[in-house]
Amino acid sequence: MPLSKMVDKADKLLRQKRVMPLDGGRYNVIGDHGTYIVQVSPTGSLSCNCPGFQSKRRCSHVAAVLILREIKKGKG
Ligand SMILES: [Zn+2]
Repeated sequence: MPLSKMVDKADKLLRQKRVMPLDGGRYNVIGDHGTYIVQVSPTGSLSCNCPGFQSKRRCSHVAAVLILREIKKGKG
């Protein structure tokens, strides 16, 4: 998936409120094909349990959480 398309998809997930923070640095993301868990490690790296992330090491779910965290940082 091109990066721009991934960002578009991430933006859609955020606008539709499909990214929900959980405890322990985890986020519940309701994707088009299933619900996934994005985990933020103590070092700040993100991982997702969707098939796309397993093969490509990036996905729109991780991108959505990254954007969400940037928005929160900006407000704080
Ligand atoms: Zn994912």
